[in-house]
Amino acid sequence: MNGTDFAEWSRKAADWGVAYRASLRDRPVRAQTAPGEIAARLPMQPPQTGEDMDAIFADFENIILPGMTHWQHPRFFAYFPANAAPVSVVAEYLVTAMAAQCMLWQTSPAATELETRVLDWLRQAIGLPEGFAGVIQDSASSATLSAVLVMRERALDWNGNKAGLSGNPQLRIYSSDQVHTSIDRAIWVSGIGENNLVRIPARGALRGMDCDALEAAIVKDMEAGYVPAGIIACTGGTSTGACDDIADVVRIARRHGLYVHVDAAWAGSAMICEEFRHLWAGVQEADSVVFNPHKWLGAQFDCSAHFIRNPADLVRTLAIQPEYLKTHGRDGIINYSEWTVPLGRRFRALKLWFLLRFHGLDGLRTMIRNHVDWSAKLCERLRAGDNFEIVTEPAFSLFSFRHLGAKDLDAHNLALVNAINDDGRIYLTQTRVDGQVAIRFQAGQFEMTESDVDTAFDVISEVAARMPNAG
Ligand SMILES: *Cc1c(COP(=O)(O)O)cnc(C)c1O
Repeated sequence: MNGTDFAEWSRKAADWGVAYRASLRDRPVRAQTAPGEIAARLPMQPPQTGEDMDAIFADFENIILPGMTHWQHPRFFAYFPANAAPVSVVAEYLVTAMAAQCMLWQTSPAATELETRVLDWLRQAIGLPEGFAGVIQDSASSATLSAVLVMRERALDWNGNKAGLSGNPQLRIYSSDQVHTSIDRAIWVSGIGENNLVRIPARGALRGMDCDALEAAIVKDMEAGYVPAGIIACTGGTSTGACDDIADVVRIARRHGLYVHVDAAWAGSAMICEEFRHLWAGVQEADSVVFNPHKWLGAQFDCSAHFIRNPADLVRTLAIQPEYLKTHGRDGIINYSEWTVPLGRRFRALKLWFLLRFHGLDGLRTMIRNHVDWSAKLCERLRAGDNFEIVTEPAFSLFSFRHLGAKDLDAHNLALVNAINDDGRIYLTQTRVDGQVAIRFQAGQFEMTESDVDTAFDVISEVAARMPNAG
């Protein structure tokens, strides 16, 4: 592509993005295509000769776009958000154009030094004490995997990477039964094995792990010859927003010399507002914490902030220095690829820097407070509405509910979620609470307004009223 064409298509792509964002309220939130429909429109063979950009772009609009679910839609209330504030999109254009591989300090000193600074801004913003050092990971899953690897190496006297696990004692990791599946996968990939993930039952309104049961499990394991290695606590679990009592978890961990990792992938963003910090009281004593600015805060995916009390342990676990990666005569610099599983690194700090500067913490706090208020209002309207039951009360901006108009409530509510998503005006997902289907609602899209929540109420009520089983 020559320079003139590159300029023209770059401009077209940017203009397209702006028009696309402006058009979102007129599009169904969840893709309305059937499985295989998009694939059927793609040629089976690769092109042998180059094609015209006009044709490629037209196919993007005609074939690809209908198969997209619109995560930046203001009425995206499913899962958790993956927000990309416009200002962070602009930063990503620049990052994409420079396309630097920022694995070492010297492969782009600005990327490393900006990452150190903006992560320290974030540390202050969410109220973590000085002494926590931050690194940007591609996902919370990777951050949690790194934390589990550190737990493993600490517990095995730094001998696991070398000797493997077969001749070593059997390790144990503890978490509540509310944690995200990324914890299971970290346990698999680290070689510790799912049978050694001890799931402590959650209880109470916050669905935090039963800390008496936690301590009893640790003691029982030690008596049985296992080696407890660490605890993964969560703030804002994926299903219903469960929060462990971090202070209690840390107290027990200290008693037994265990590492504590806190997964706050979604709810961590809310901690820029002081009024939510009681929900993770004690976090300042944890060994590591992860939260995703790419979820609620507005930094274009991917951007996971991983804070570590003792980065030397992480580097000792993950760093490899073959000759070609050594940076002679540059002692005291940070090579962030030694803090992560992948070697290659995108320049992810720039979008955070743009985001934090453009909106300021006050702007982001207002957004999060609005989401929490609007979600609570919807919860009350549904509670007072026709035949709805609130299953779990709001945690931050997440609650769950079910419609009571049928004998088989699980089947009825699954059908209701599908009917709502086929309607297209909003997008919701389901979960199970104590074994029973509940419908989740979370408010978190960067550009949503209160009237989008009103629409959600209308759609939920209308669709529920016309369900075949209703009444
Ligand atoms: C989203 C989420 C994750 C996974 O995050 P990725 O960045 O997609 O790996 C883990 N834990 C919780 C609580 C989450 O909400």
